[in-house]
Amino acid sequence: MMRFTFAARLVFPVDQPPLWNGCLEMENGRVTAVYQRPSPSVAGIKNAIDMGNVALVPGLINAHTHWEFSDLRQPLQPATPFTGWLKSLMQSRRNATTDKATRIQLGATESMAAGCAVVGEIATAGNPVLGTTDWRAPVTSGRTVAFHESIGLRPERREAQLQAARNWLSTPLAEGIIRGLSPHAPYTVHPALLSDLVDLAKARNAPVAMHLAETTAELELLQHGTGEFVEFLDHMGAWDPQAIPRGSRPLDCLRSLEPLSHVLAVHGNYLNAEEQAFVAARPQFTVVYCPRTHAFFGHAPHPWQELLAQGCRVALGTDSRASNPDLSLWNEVVWLRKRFPTVDPALLLKLATQNGAEALGLAAEFGSLVLGKSANVAVVMLPDVRSTDPWELLYAGRMKT
Ligand SMILES: [Zn+2]
Repeated sequence: MMRFTFAARLVFPVDQPPLWNGCLEMENGRVTAVYQRPSPSVAGIKNAIDMGNVALVPGLINAHTHWEFSDLRQPLQPATPFTGWLKSLMQSRRNATTDKATRIQLGATESMAAGCAVVGEIATAGNPVLGTTDWRAPVTSGRTVAFHESIGLRPERREAQLQAARNWLSTPLAEGIIRGLSPHAPYTVHPALLSDLVDLAKARNAPVAMHLAETTAELELLQHGTGEFVEFLDHMGAWDPQAIPRGSRPLDCLRSLEPLSHVLAVHGNYLNAEEQAFVAARPQFTVVYCPRTHAFFGHAPHPWQELLAQGCRVALGTDSRASNPDLSLWNEVVWLRKRFPTVDPALLLKLATQNGAEALGLAAEFGSLVLGKSANVAVVMLPDVRSTDPWELLYAGRMKT
């Protein structure tokens, strides 16, 4: 197999500062060298492909999405109350004119086209596409971590939900797909079922993603057993007033999840100081911040900077098209850059790459351009301007699709 060298105006390896006139050398899909050439010219570099005025960054990691809503053209309304949005979501699933396999494929294609190497996908019952061995991710060098979703607040659902999760972990899957589990959220999963799923994931060394501390309504349900979720769950025939002990909080779920090696606490919008300290002290936890989705719902400011300051790993997700106009993780990063101009620009890229790879247990292969790792890169087209600031150029760039 031949070696290729991609030459670019800038290369952002992530584990080291940006390289002007960067070169990325690869063989068999692996990085074999990353270096700076002495001038913009590629003269004398063997098998060089000059990409021109672009930046190469590691393939992005979208730690949280739901591809099955990828046919939606715009986010669903109403954004509030949250249970009103959930009702729209379920209605949209029932009324979808495109079949589920196609919707999932649309999401996969869009994600990969937007420069993602790895996606954390929540896979619901049936898994019609991911559960077939002939499905191919559009970019085969990438990975999909498919978290099988479990929902069951009423105790009588426990055994069937557990069995479905067991089956998922034994199903042959398409190439490039890694199995995970997703107990949906504290308001839809009985604490005993959560405990079963944690035991199962631990035995099978599977990563786990759980929506957690997403809304104030969730906190109210856990604490007092009241609020908008009671009516919503009751309407669904899913409410059980005994399932969640009064006085519960997200911390109880975090404690249940603690034995695992890779836990994604998705959203974490309302983690309190004690819960933030809990996840920050435990490297198995990652809080997945979905910036534009968070803004769509009009939540209180997200504690991502406080979490990072305490040493917690934070990764980024798009969530689905039901709460976001697209599935581009690059657009999340650019959005953050605009709204938080004082945050270290290198940190923003790290959230979108290395942190996501670590969260999903794939840091040995993805998340930075390091010798031996995957050479899966995203190409950002840079503006045609002079600048001495690599970050200014990068974030003014457009993802090449
Ligand atoms: Zn979600």
